[in-house]
Amino acid sequence: MRMINRSDLEAFGYFDMFQNSPDYEEDPVRFYSQFVEDKILTKGRDRLIENTLGLAGEAGEVSEKVKKLFRDKNRFKDEDILKELGDVLFYTVALANIFGGNLRKVMEMNMAKLDDREQRGVLKGSGDNR
Ligand SMILES: [Mg+2]
Repeated sequence: MRMINRSDLEAFGYFDMFQNSPDYEEDPVRFYSQFVEDKILTKGRDRLIENTLGLAGEAGEVSEKVKKLFRDKNRFKDEDILKELGDVLFYTVALANIFGGNLRKVMEMNMAKLDDREQRGVLKGSGDNR
């Protein structure tokens, strides 16, 4: 049996996979967007449905942990919530990727919206477009 060598890996395109991959230290938002894309298995309408339900499900997992803390005195480690928030982030970025955004754009739009509401004195209340 022959060992795989560098030229085998080059022929396979192994090194090409890292050519266009953004560098984490240089641009963590773009790196993570690509990371998420590489993990998504569904396409088109199926992807939209799966990613949307995934976001709701993972947000539900955060809620469940807090609910059980109050209902059952079921304590959890901070790290457990952080892991679930990572799952929420994954699906948030997956959906942002579909709609032509990224985490930076989502954060900036959210900050602009909340700053505007604060300046107009409507931080409290309800309605998407107040
Ligand atoms: Mg989870």
